[in-house]
Amino acid sequence: MKKTKLFLLIFIVSALNFSAQTKPYVLLVSFDGFRWDYLNRGITPNLEKVRSEGASAMSFRPSFPSKTFPNHQSIITGMYPAHHGIYANSFLDQFNNETYRLGDSVSVTNAKWYLGEAFWETAERQGITTASYFWPGSEVKLSYRRPTYFQKYDHKLPYENRIEGVINWLKLPQEKRPHFITVYFHETDDIGHKFGPNSPECNKAIELLDGIAGRLLQQLDEIKMRDSVNVIFVSDHGMTEISKERVINIEKMLEGYNCKFLDESVLMTIEPPKDKVKTIYEILKKNENHYKVYLREEVPQYFHFNDNPLIPTLVVIPDLGWNVLSNKGAGRLKDDYFKGNHGYDNQQMDMHGIFLAAGPSFKNGYKTGTLWNIDVYPLLCKIFDIMPRANIDGKLERIEFILK
Ligand code: AMP
Ligand code: ZN
Ligand code: ZN
Repeated sequence: MKKTKLFLLIFIVSALNFSAQTKPYVLLVSFDGFRWDYLNRGITPNLEKVRSEGASAMSFRPSFPSKTFPNHQSIITGMYPAHHGIYANSFLDQFNNETYRLGDSVSVTNAKWYLGEAFWETAERQGITTASYFWPGSEVKLSYRRPTYFQKYDHKLPYENRIEGVINWLKLPQEKRPHFITVYFHETDDIGHKFGPNSPECNKAIELLDGIAGRLLQQLDEIKMRDSVNVIFVSDHGMTEISKERVINIEKMLEGYNCKFLDESVLMTIEPPKDKVKTIYEILKKNENHYKVYLREEVPQYFHFNDNPLIPTLVVIPDLGWNVLSNKGAGRLKDDYFKGNHGYDNQQMDMHGIFLAAGPSFKNGYKTGTLWNIDVYPLLCKIFDIMPRANIDGKLERIEFILK
């Protein structure tokens, strides 16, 4: 090889290497159902350290409905659920008679349901390698819409293995190493549902996840990447106490009308027969007590829950801690009932989660009020200095002041 060609090659290789070295790293950690005030119980020393070292919010506002899939998608796309399409954990496309359901590996991997652009897609297109150790929507069967590295969701996979997976990705050689990684832990959600947010069991779950935070940071230390990785801890929503005494059987009020009840408990969606919409609406309106009923297009603007044609005609939103049920749901009350739930009005503080971030991009020891989860996507674009998708709901100006 001629000398000039060799120099050129060396130059290109070192330029590529330099750009990989200068690109930031972000590890986005989700603790499902970790309510904002769990941090104030005095049992989270590791997260407290992150709070004192980095930038943190008093609370993190989810989008409505405050459920898992809608909010993981809102965080990663910067869009409200009605806009990114995953407006519930499960829903029906009445036009094609197809169902999207959180537990169904066929529908969750079908890219057609995801109308937003996840950050990993935006990033990969602009030269950033990404990875996900679980995140709703990360397993779609369309390679350009998912991270380079991803894992099929396995609820039972021990938390240690998830941490190990993340650390192994960070140990890959520069040219293969992902710069954006997500990881997910469900403890506070599972236990919060089962025993309620104020139970001793819930405190154990909080301590366990705080330990996970500690181990993640310690292992970043061990591979000498603690100072170069921005670690962001978020949760998708909070949790509130519910009880068998605070339930309303909606179907009982509508007997003989042949309504379809498509979702229930913390948010009920109803499809009445076309010629009965007004009648059903009026019955529910007349009996309004501990819930509100709306035609889809009348759902208050601040929920951003109107403009998706798949959302059924009637929407019933219960007060915090109340449940609106069909006969089937009411029948299940005889069994052991959940003690906690979420999905309610996202303005309710009980539905708020956490946002804590530490690393080279974030201010140190900086505390602010409530941040919104739709603003994380533009924040990530800013950290990586890449172009965000245009039609998002998130706004950089509501969050960028936490950056250095
Ligand atoms: P929920 O509390 O009903 O809003 O949903 C929480 C549940 O979502 C968890 O217990 C998990 O079983 C499930 N889940 C979370 N992430 C994923 C994922 N990436 N794929 C499939 N299921 C998930
Ligand atoms: Zn959740
Ligand atoms: Zn949950």
